Amino acid sequence: MLAAHSFIKVAAVTDHDSVRGVKLTVQLASVYSDILIIPGVEISTPIGDIIVLGTDELPPKPWTPEVVVDYAKSIDAVSIVAHPFRTYGMGECARDYKVDAIEVLNGGSTKEANAQAKLLAKSLGLPGTAGSDAHQVSDLFSVCSIIEADLNVDSILNSIKKGFVSTQISHGLKYL
Ligand SMILES: [Zn+2]
Repeated sequence: MLAAHSFIKVAAVTDHDSVRGVKLTVQLASVYSDILIIPGVEISTPIGDIIVLGTDELPPKPWTPEVVVDYAKSIDAVSIVAHPFRTYGMGECARDYKVDAIEVLNGGSTKEANAQAKLLAKSLGLPGTAGSDAHQVSDLFSVCSIIEADLNVDSILNSIKKGFVSTQISHGLKYL
């Protein structure tokens, strides 16, 4: 299905423990000059989920938080603690790892869990990102990150690391 949003023009594809869909999505989106796909993956570690933005490969195993975070650093990707205060979230354990950012606005989390995540990011001095956590098309674009960057993957990843990012609720998509 072709889906688009009136102002969100960059989307990260982060399937669970798989990069099978990423290359195809990048390829399909490449015909639209104003749409950019950030390749990524969400890795299930025993401590909680970690998103890596800027890779179309899987990290080496074992998928511990250390290995995943080190992998992201080694390729200049961005590691993000996903939905820290929900099921499969790392919670306060996020403090133990050198992640680049915390997901502070997750489309599948409660207001309270997101507020807690925001506090965690603040106390760690880390940037906060948004993620729709979309598992189906109708979940897309529920929330978004506002990133001050050029429309290319490197610029966007750098801006996230530097903290030039804020989050907002974006109220879903329109169908084409
Ligand atoms: Zn997750």
